[in-house]
Amino acid sequence: MTAEVKVPFVDLTRQFRGLEKELMQAFVDVGRSGAYILGPPVEAFETALARYCGVRHAITVANGSDALFLVLKAIGVGPGDEVITAANSFIASAWVAVAAGARPVLVDVNEDLNIDPGAVAAAITPRTRAIIPVHLAGRIAAMREINDIAEKADVAVVEDAAQAIGARYHDRPAGSLGLAAGFSLHPLKNLGIYGDGGFITTDDDALAGKLRLLRNHGLRTRDDCQLWGYNSRLDSLQAAFGLIKLPKLDAWNVRCRAIADMYRSGLKNHVCVPEDKPWELNVYHNFVITTPRRDDLMTYLKDAGIGSAIHYPVPIHIQAAAHNLGYEKGRFPVVERLAQTMMSLPIYPELEQNEIDLVIQKIKAFFG
Ligand SMILES: *Cc1c(COP(=O)(O)O)cnc(C)c1O
Repeated sequence: MTAEVKVPFVDLTRQFRGLEKELMQAFVDVGRSGAYILGPPVEAFETALARYCGVRHAITVANGSDALFLVLKAIGVGPGDEVITAANSFIASAWVAVAAGARPVLVDVNEDLNIDPGAVAAAITPRTRAIIPVHLAGRIAAMREINDIAEKADVAVVEDAAQAIGARYHDRPAGSLGLAAGFSLHPLKNLGIYGDGGFITTDDDALAGKLRLLRNHGLRTRDDCQLWGYNSRLDSLQAAFGLIKLPKLDAWNVRCRAIADMYRSGLKNHVCVPEDKPWELNVYHNFVITTPRRDDLMTYLKDAGIGSAIHYPVPIHIQAAAHNLGYEKGRFPVVERLAQTMMSLPIYPELEQNEIDLVIQKIKAFFG
């Protein structure tokens, strides 16, 4: 018998219902405009995203994976090159290197779930071309340390900011901390649309120009193809939806941070909870706790109608797809331990107070 769901891990329909009127109007407006690909809403959305992220350029693309992949292509990463990223991430963080023909070099993380700068430094070789620090769960990676390492080694830093729009680090926004950054607009991300989408941020004018070509078949105009590119564009309709949601993002992030505060103070005596360092503003794409009794706690919560999830249960180096990279089990002890002990609690702006209270109350009851 499955328990009635009282607190879903995620429920995207709540936010949709609140925005339905505005979204319907956008659909009508774009429909009547007749410009469905790279239309005026795309340009307006890019301008708004660049301002939000504190950079000169935002280039929208078809998804967050393409955002990172196109940056690697634009800077010339290819066969024989190595790209360093974290072993605990969504699979796309490593895939982008594979897609570019390069080798993903995985490294361990710290207790804060983010890439360990010491491990990055140790993984640098003459073949290293780029580092992709992932801002996991809405917390920005140790960018000062990583940028120092990258500068010494003369390699590019490309932020995987898919989970971190609106997060800040020493008061600078995600997306403004490396050569370029890739963001995802997937419905499950903090700024989600109603299908796939993504964007790249950069301050580099030449790189931005090249990315605009790469995402649209290398076309400078309809009949002038400058280079072999890709079809990776954001629809006008999705850009129009994004334009409605972006102005609300800060308030949603504030709400998620408030929920995180409640979880933190309610649960800190029972499980390890994420703490914010003074220079961080975390946006809690996920609220990740750790406990040695993780599996039993997840089952207990499920029976109580509370959803939870693991990000990520199988580290990238242990995935079947990564077999050819030759990593052994046990290679990245922190990632592998976290895979056994971490779990994510429901966290989204529409979560009700009684739901938050119930999650805290049930976890306390589990630990007696
Ligand atoms: C979601 C995500 C991506 C990929 O974004 P898509 O839009 O799904 O392609 C890349 N990296 C991380 C860390 C992600 O969470």
